[in-house]
Amino acid sequence: MGAGARARATAAALLLVAAALAGVAAGGDIVHQDDDAPKIPGCSNDFMLVKVQTWVKNRETDEFVGVGARFDPIIESKEKHANRTGLLLANPFDCCTPLKEKVAGEVLLVQRGDCKFTTKAKVAEDAGASAIVILNNRHELYKMVCDQNETDLDINIPAVLLPKDAGTILQGLLSLGKVSVQLYSPDRPLVDTAEVFLWLMAVGTILGASYWSAWSAREALIEQEKLLKDGHESSVNIEAEGSTGMVDITMTSAMLFIVVASLFLVMLYKLMSHWFVELLVVIFCIGGVEGLQTCLVALLSRWFKPAARSFVKVPFFGAVSYLTLAVCPFCIVFAVLWAVYRRMPYAWIGQDVLGIALIVTVIQIVRIPNLKVGSVLLGCSFLYDNQCDGRFGPRGPNRPSRPDRLRSPLPMDAVAFSSASNPNAAPFPSASPSSGAHRFSIRGPRRRRRPLPALRSSASPSAHAPASHHDVVVVGAGIVGLSIARHLLLHTPLSVAVADAAVPCSGATGAGQGYVWMSHRTPGSDTWDLAVRSKQLWEDLAAEMDGHGAGGARESLGWMKTGSLLVGRTSKELATLEEKTKVLSQAGISAECLSASSLHALEPALCVGNDGGAMFLPEDRQIDAFQAVSLIEKINRSYSPKGRYMELYNDPAMSLIRSEVTGRVEGVQTSKNILYGRKATVVASGAWTRSLLHSFLGPNCTLDIPVKPRKGHLLVLENFNRLKLNHGIMELGYVDHQGDNSNSVHLSPKYKEDDQAAASISMTATLNTKGHLVLGSSREFKGFSREVDKSILKSIWDRAGEFFPALNNIHLDIDEDKEIRIGHRPYMPDGKPVIGFVPDMSNVLIATGHEGSGLALALGTAEMVTDMILGDLGRVDFTPFSIENRFSGTG
Ligand SMILES: Cc1cc2nc3c(=O)[nH]c(=O)nc-3n(C[C@H](O)[C@H](O)[C@H](O)COP(=O)(O)OP(=O)(O)OC[C@H]3O[C@@H](n4cnc5c(N)ncnc54)[C@H](O)[C@@H]3O)c2cc1C
Repeated sequence: MGAGARARATAAALLLVAAALAGVAAGGDIVHQDDDAPKIPGCSNDFMLVKVQTWVKNRETDEFVGVGARFDPIIESKEKHANRTGLLLANPFDCCTPLKEKVAGEVLLVQRGDCKFTTKAKVAEDAGASAIVILNNRHELYKMVCDQNETDLDINIPAVLLPKDAGTILQGLLSLGKVSVQLYSPDRPLVDTAEVFLWLMAVGTILGASYWSAWSAREALIEQEKLLKDGHESSVNIEAEGSTGMVDITMTSAMLFIVVASLFLVMLYKLMSHWFVELLVVIFCIGGVEGLQTCLVALLSRWFKPAARSFVKVPFFGAVSYLTLAVCPFCIVFAVLWAVYRRMPYAWIGQDVLGIALIVTVIQIVRIPNLKVGSVLLGCSFLYDNQCDGRFGPRGPNRPSRPDRLRSPLPMDAVAFSSASNPNAAPFPSASPSSGAHRFSIRGPRRRRRPLPALRSSASPSAHAPASHHDVVVVGAGIVGLSIARHLLLHTPLSVAVADAAVPCSGATGAGQGYVWMSHRTPGSDTWDLAVRSKQLWEDLAAEMDGHGAGGARESLGWMKTGSLLVGRTSKELATLEEKTKVLSQAGISAECLSASSLHALEPALCVGNDGGAMFLPEDRQIDAFQAVSLIEKINRSYSPKGRYMELYNDPAMSLIRSEVTGRVEGVQTSKNILYGRKATVVASGAWTRSLLHSFLGPNCTLDIPVKPRKGHLLVLENFNRLKLNHGIMELGYVDHQGDNSNSVHLSPKYKEDDQAAASISMTATLNTKGHLVLGSSREFKGFSREVDKSILKSIWDRAGEFFPALNNIHLDIDEDKEIRIGHRPYMPDGKPVIGFVPDMSNVLIATGHEGSGLALALGTAEMVTDMILGDLGRVDFTPFSIENRFSGTG
């Protein structure tokens, strides 16, 4: 090696060492430095990023990244030393007033708003919590700071703020069983291997390409000297203009380059549409193929000299060497494979190979002829970085400094922070500058960062989230959403994607008792035809399952043909049942009214007194919600290999994607994915639909679908052999109870204080196919609380005891590990589901509001939604369920 080469190698080594040292120098905590947000004694921490690892029933699940508060104690930095603690929903959920129940060292999950962060932390600490996790009402993170006058703070538990979508997932996890969490704020490693790797790659590429250029020039010179010695002066002039294949950058072209690059970025930002990204992929592939081919041919020509020096004439391309011809197909296949599999986790390897090859080729071709041009190029780049990048990215005092951005292994600029000092000023302090809360967020194109698997932020949807294309996107995988997907897959050629914030049975569906009944319906009412049709579709599905043999519908659906008994205990109730029997019989339903004695013969364990009786509908059916859901999932998944079905769980939908040009809804952005729905987007998110629509349609939208969560408890006693039931049973009071709270059993006086929260119980009882006694059910308006209320369970048990005396001899230990199901029925004040298009949106549909009948009505709803999407006339009249002229903001 010559002296020059040695010097270059030493320089390269020094540069690489410097790069590695840069990583070392940046060691320390993962901190967001901010001297603007107020600091007072007891409230002066740096904002630490905190990892929240979760386990459900001891199985490791999601991990979230949140931010610690100015006021909490320092959070443990070592994962192995951090405690793993149970997670509990605070009651009340806002944690602004003393908690109703003491906490035994668990971590409390609370929602942001209504009082200061410090108040929440203090209330949680006083209740005995070991930490508090506050769920933001936005997708970004905010800085939790204190008021200037809070000088006597004494908070000794950590507080962490998590983004909204993490909260949705956590609440979903809580519905699956016992959740435990571990909070820790890891130190930044002394050497960040990912950064070192990126530096090595970048510096290595530049050095390699420069070294190669110099090497080629040296070889050309030696060759020239050799030829000169051989007397070929006249035939050789390698410096002749154009013969080197080099392009010199002039000052004008340097400036033009920056202008074009800026325009390109503006276009990327403005037209961040699917076709533009695809176009970029194609352009990158073409460049990558060219680069890869140039590099490979140059490399291989050292060993395959004859093939490199023999040429063949190819139309359009002129003389091409045999070696190039041989290498070309490989390069094309490589680029195509990368383009097809570019969303796979390992695709970055292919992308970097193509990128490096492209850059090496560019460096080989483009030359900066002198220092003057170099300075102009550097100056323009500096200007671009400061001005153009800033237009899209964070600006002003809160823009993270470059050292910050480099130091954090987390994509700090993907996390929007705001200091929100006084949430009392507004229930949820806005991030507007006028509220004194400043926020920054990256909205434009971000620099590509390789996500670090261990520390990926779930704070905001990434513009680089994997995108997939479908005909229909369904939001919500409860019984309604999954049934819609199934119907579309079975009866149309359309492809479907289903996204759920948690998993299918985490909503109301998982608590459903499974009655597919006609007994509590009224012929001629708005929902009658839908109920008749839906029941028929369940019968058809059950018949199909029976046809498959094995366990048939009983095994796959929990299907029971036991019929229903609607029971009353007074002569007045018996008269109502007689009237109902008449009406249902006239409508063609097989129904019979039973006196107390006939009822006793049919259902000996049931006691309704001498004046009571029942209406018996032998054709009513029962399913098991969990079995039905897994059957539908199985059917849907059978379409996955054909590319027609995709399901994404634990991935909440967050916003609608709209065309920049037409404003038409193109799909849905979830926390991890972009789902395009060519034909339609269906929102079937049960009781969550109201708030979801608000986030989808924005604050200016006047449409308000007043669906609200109506909480229900269900008690399941496994393998119960102390009582034999032959039918599905329900008390008559349940019928009133579906629409409002009249005629229902109100519970403890505390509920009477607030009629909105009034809880009511109606007896429902079944022995399911597995021999479990399923007892229900309660109804109350308590927001989305998932708290198990023992007083309600006791009331359910006591109420059942009034109808089944045998239960009174059994002691129910509620604290024992019983299966307790809690769900939020999507309640509509007018008692009808909402199934139809959102006004002024030709391709967004809603399917919700089924309250206590969602299981029974799911298949009919699915058929109706399919008809609507296809523009077909439905078997059932759509009108009673449509949105138009029914709610505020709809004409
Ligand atoms: C105790 C009880 C007993 C019942 N008994 C019966 C019965 O016997 N017969 C009967 O027919 N019905 C019964 N029901 C009612 C029935 O369970 C519901 O009507 C039905 O489950 C509603 O289904 P759904 O799909 O609309 O809602 P859900 O099952 O609640 O599904 C909504 C889904 O949307 C998801 N979601 C929410 N937000 C988002 C988001 N941002 N992005 C993506 N997904 C999101 C949720 O995670 C959830 O999985 C009962 C209900 C309860 C509570």
